[in-house]
Amino acid sequence: MKILVPVKRVIDYNVKARVKPDHSGVDLNNVKMSINPFCEIAVEEAVRLKEAGKATEVVVVSIGVQQTQETLRTALAIGADRAILLQSDDDLEPLAVAKVLKAVIAEENPDMVIMGKQAIDGDNNATGQMLAALLDWPQATFASKLELVDGGAHVTREVDGGLQTVKVSLPAIVTTDLRLNEPRYASLPNIMKARSKPMATKAVGEYGLDLAPRLSVKSVTEPPKRTAGEIVESASELVEKLKTAGVLS
Ligand code: AMP
Repeated sequence: MKILVPVKRVIDYNVKARVKPDHSGVDLNNVKMSINPFCEIAVEEAVRLKEAGKATEVVVVSIGVQQTQETLRTALAIGADRAILLQSDDDLEPLAVAKVLKAVIAEENPDMVIMGKQAIDGDNNATGQMLAALLDWPQATFASKLELVDGGAHVTREVDGGLQTVKVSLPAIVTTDLRLNEPRYASLPNIMKARSKPMATKAVGEYGLDLAPRLSVKSVTEPPKRTAGEIVESASELVEKLKTAGVLS
């Protein structure tokens, strides 16, 4: 069984995002970039399936700028077997990413795609769902547990009312939630080993797809500053303050 894991290079989750002075987007100049945390979880899950003898090959793929090679090397150091970089200088929208991934899937024929539920830069939470629709494959989103069963997968999802388990037949798209696993730290020997694992590079334009944007960004702004909180000594003091502020009567 072959697993394809699409991964995205995003602003590191520890970095405080700065908005560009012209409000056209987030300033990524000299900013630390990393593998999207949900994608890291997807790589970890695929590698665990391989280690458990249930998968035979884990292929990671990313669409992005040249430096995305580093993101792919991170995935290879976790344990993926090989990588594909589809070079693009444009930050593609989910529909365009889904179209490119569909083309990669036609070449690679994976039995399952495990990907992040969302990328923490745009927080779109859309690519996996769009890819499943384009392929007409079953999808199980927000996985917090994944088990392979005869010809399919049982996926447990965290929903508002509790846990829901769905069974999908393969091939399928699974998107990862935070509690699916805790990704390992890549060991130094594995980081070294990752340097010699195969990485194919291709220009995204080679697929001849319509990747033109459908969305336009009007303006990007910082969230409003939070005013300082106040610590109260007791519940009665809190009630008093809320009454004075007119929140309680
Ligand atoms: P999004 O819909 O943008 O929140 O992204 C959801 C998931 O789609 C990510 O966690 C990745 O697995 C995948 N994805 C999004 N953009 C890319 C990209 N440029 N290259 C590879 N995978 C991507």
